[in-house]
Amino acid sequence: MSTRTIALDDRLYHYLQAVSLREPDVLVRLRAETARLPAAGMQVSPEQGQFMALLVRLLGARRCLEVGTFTGYSALACALVLPPDGRLVTLDVSADWTAVARRHWLDAGVADRIDLRLGPAAGSLAALLAEGAADSFDFAFIDADKTGYDDYYELALQLVRPGGLIAFDNVLWSGRVADPNAQDADTSALRALNRKLHADARVDLSMLPIGDGLTLARRR
Ligand code: CA
Repeated sequence: MSTRTIALDDRLYHYLQAVSLREPDVLVRLRAETARLPAAGMQVSPEQGQFMALLVRLLGARRCLEVGTFTGYSALACALVLPPDGRLVTLDVSADWTAVARRHWLDAGVADRIDLRLGPAAGSLAALLAEGAADSFDFAFIDADKTGYDDYYELALQLVRPGGLIAFDNVLWSGRVADPNAQDADTSALRALNRKLHADARVDLSMLPIGDGLTLARRR
């Protein structure tokens, strides 16, 4: 019994995975390949991918948006549970990382549901607005450069429909957001965003200690 969120040691974390993780083989293979890359720490945890897929189902989402593709794990987790005519638009700057992603999306048979756009995300989000995509997305996941999060939020808030959900990854930043000695640009940007969201009347809010911290903001 506890009146606060439980802390997970390794034993309890492995138990959580053992009794709840249902990771499709295509995601297992993508995770294994990504683990060999130098930037492997940027991948979402499998239980977080599973949680996001559940959110997509709960929202009945047909259109998803992602800022920060990396090697495509979270995009694939979501695309696998979209209806066949569903679409996920995902944005990244790296041709190398997204080449890994594309291979696994093809392998999983969902590449036709995923629209990958390479280039700086703020420009791609503005282009979506210019294409008339305002108020059209059910779910958005923001997981890219931390100093860009606030811009991505303001643009994503125009792109998701009222009642749509925006999820922000890494909002606890390995604990650095609560460390007054951490004053680097990424930590400061996340801290400012967390403060802003807390007071932002445009959204309903919940911050979850899953993965590296995940904030859910539902557009009112
Ligand atoms: Ca992340």
